[in-house]
Amino acid sequence: MSDSVEENPSPPQPDAGKRVVVIGGGLAGLAAASALSSRGMSVTVLESRPRLGGRASSIIDRETGETIDNCQHVAMGCCTSFRAFCEDTGCADLFETQRELHFVGPPGQAKVVRFAASSLPAPLHLASSFMKMPWFTLGEKRQIAFGLRALAKDRTKTDRSFQDWLDGQRQSETVQRRFWHLVLVSALSESLDRISLRHARKVFVDGFLASHAGWQVSIPTVPLDDVYETRISAALRKHAVDIHVKAGVQRLLTDGRRISGVELRDGSEIFADEFVLAVPHNLVKSMLPDDFAECSDVVLLDRLEVAPIASVHLWYDQPLTELPHATFVDRLSQWMFNRTVLASASPPPNQSPLPLGGEVAVSAAGEGENAGGCRLQVVISAAHDLSAMSEQEVVAKVDSELREVWPESCDAKLIRGRMITEHRAVFSPLPGVDEIRPVQQSPIANLQFAGDWTRTGWPATMEGAVRSGYLAAENILNRAGRPDTVVAPDLPSARLYRLLFS
Ligand SMILES: Cc1cc2nc3c(=O)[nH]c(=O)nc-3n(C[C@H](O)[C@H](O)[C@H](O)COP(=O)(O)OP(=O)(O)OC[C@H]3O[C@@H](n4cnc5c(N)ncnc54)[C@H](O)[C@@H]3O)c2cc1C
Repeated sequence: MSDSVEENPSPPQPDAGKRVVVIGGGLAGLAAASALSSRGMSVTVLESRPRLGGRASSIIDRETGETIDNCQHVAMGCCTSFRAFCEDTGCADLFETQRELHFVGPPGQAKVVRFAASSLPAPLHLASSFMKMPWFTLGEKRQIAFGLRALAKDRTKTDRSFQDWLDGQRQSETVQRRFWHLVLVSALSESLDRISLRHARKVFVDGFLASHAGWQVSIPTVPLDDVYETRISAALRKHAVDIHVKAGVQRLLTDGRRISGVELRDGSEIFADEFVLAVPHNLVKSMLPDDFAECSDVVLLDRLEVAPIASVHLWYDQPLTELPHATFVDRLSQWMFNRTVLASASPPPNQSPLPLGGEVAVSAAGEGENAGGCRLQVVISAAHDLSAMSEQEVVAKVDSELREVWPESCDAKLIRGRMITEHRAVFSPLPGVDEIRPVQQSPIANLQFAGDWTRTGWPATMEGAVRSGYLAAENILNRAGRPDTVVAPDLPSARLYRLLFS
């Protein structure tokens, strides 16, 4: 079949009352639902699981009864659409922006360096913090500065692996491991040879070079379910979004030309005018009508590879550190999030900025139940190699690394440790990956794709997911004759950055 199914679609007519079905209640689907419902469209969200949030979600730990996240999710300051989504859905107060990061030096030099911006304009704002890192020699710091400059200036259109690019930049093995790998593995969850130059450049330019605030990190102070499942679903329902959980869609129905409806797993059918398919990329093909499943956009999705992320949850009988978070150099542990300290900054449940009519309650079995103790969460991205270790081995290794960093806590008793691995956490940002990511407008005129895997220019992130939902919403608004911009503008680049690198 041809890739363009509706070749001469009739001119769009203004229509605020379109019925839209969103399939998938992850961030992409929720963002599309929020954008469309707040613009007067009638939206139904169908989610197969018992809760919203998709890959950004929580579980109840069976032993402690606490609500813990599948993995800590953070957003950088450059994630402007994600920020706008949180503001629009009234959950921005559930995040705390960290204006200081804490880098812990490699084994043997476990000094904590506080990393914060100076008043100098970007791209110089982080230079003084960076100069304080004693585990880099002066020569290595110069290598990094030259590497960053070369990356900012590099605008080659052809994509290749970041490792390949780095090999041409005279960066020592130590610099590659302790700087480039350290930043990129957390941001993109892959090793340098499996990261595209384009995506690596985006992380450094958008996050650390172009603007003063792009690097700051926003961390939820409550479990993810309290953000996405509780707060956001309440906000959407206020806009009359009809949300159905445990409502798995079996397949999309077609009248031969367009999508007419969806068939749920229980055999029921729902009909609508427009559809947003916001499920993980590996499920798309099986849900499309046979004729459409062979479109090149869909077939290419088979080539998207995925990477695992593991999170290790540790309960101690006393605090190990007062730091809310830390980044580790040259260790198995990559990021530590101190859930006990972070939770202490959460707003009281009855102080919501939204008039939510009592619909929202922060989880009864929330965080901080371990009185006098602490709970830490350690993230290990690109966790391909962890499959060679048992859960106990990983927990023991992480525990010993934390004790080495904070030796004063040697008396602390590890009460419980567990690891959660998401094997299909993110798509791998391999060279050329953007060419196999479909745009949101599917070959079927009234069907939009949404999900972090669609073409947004962003890696697999909450920002990428929200952008995809917003872009899908923009297409639907456009088709309804009501064009509108939903995607938030990027942070403006600093003048000095433009002067040096434009
Ligand atoms: C361990 C881990 C750590 C991460 N850390 C970060 C981080 O720190 N920062 C960051 O920005 N991003 C992070 N991410 C990535 C981020 O979670 C994702 O990019 C984002 O949540 C993807 O949202 P989505 O809506 O595109 O997809 P999903 O979240 O996968 O949503 C798809 C939804 O579709 C539903 N669905 C599937 N089949 C059906 C069906 N048949 N019918 C109806 N519904 C269906 C699913 O249940 C799911 O809810 C992390 C991801 C993981 C897994």
